[in-house]
Amino acid sequence: MSTDTIIGLIALATLFAAEGWLPAYAGRERRLRHGANNLGLAAVSAVAGALTVPLLVLSVTTAAAQGIGLCHVLDLGWPACALLTFLLFDGWMYVWHRANHEIPFLWRFHRVHHSDPAMDSTTALRFHPGEILLSGVANGLVLMALGMSLSMLVLYKSVMVLVILFHHSNLAVPARLDARLRALIVPPSMHRVHHSEIRAETDANYGTVFSFWDRLFGTFRLRDDPQAIRFGIGTYDDAAWQRPLHLLRLPLEPIRRPPAGEGAIPAAEAEP
Ligand SMILES: [Zn+2]
Ligand SMILES: [Zn+2]
Repeated sequence: MSTDTIIGLIALATLFAAEGWLPAYAGRERRLRHGANNLGLAAVSAVAGALTVPLLVLSVTTAAAQGIGLCHVLDLGWPACALLTFLLFDGWMYVWHRANHEIPFLWRFHRVHHSDPAMDSTTALRFHPGEILLSGVANGLVLMALGMSLSMLVLYKSVMVLVILFHHSNLAVPARLDARLRALIVPPSMHRVHHSEIRAETDANYGTVFSFWDRLFGTFRLRDDPQAIRFGIGTYDDAAWQRPLHLLRLPLEPIRRPPAGEGAIPAAEAEP
């Protein structure tokens, strides 16, 4: 089992217990059923993820052997290469996530992640295997373009899994702590807005680890009434659609989204 998987499982178990004691949104019943559905889908996606590993390894080794990719072409030393590839890979994650919202074919798969009406730490692992395969192929190309090493990829994924489990969690995080974390990383206050069923809020806060990409590209958005956020996509998010077999066939269903910009607010109000 890889380092990031072990870190992820320990963090998931810790957060799942903590959500029971200190929930941000009270009244969550059937947490075990909800978690089992999400983890059932995650188990299938883990198989898809394992299938992409040889491709990722091939990308990294080919770039190193052929001397292609940013780090190799610029002949950057270890610290500069490590820092740059960590940062740029997270920038790529912003671009890829945004593409998953803006390209209808990709949204068919990514909406499986968004159709959870009760977001918690298990939602962080709720991805359709199709999305995992597509992102594996795209990530392979980016790894090669960056000349990123395997150890840096494992480090990035270890940090990423901690941050995404945290920002999906239903943990009551004190507002001041959340605001401080928000200066650097994506905390729950940002990602809960991303899971809102209002289209303009779903199409915001695309960051994975660092929060500054959204500030930089004008997609940063907060709610001053987070308790009023309704999670989901407004369709395909009722109880019947939460079972893994239904989630697996969701990409085949027609896209029923509100128009882009639905629920938009003036830019001045959207700034931090
Ligand atoms: Zn999304
Ligand atoms: Zn999410």
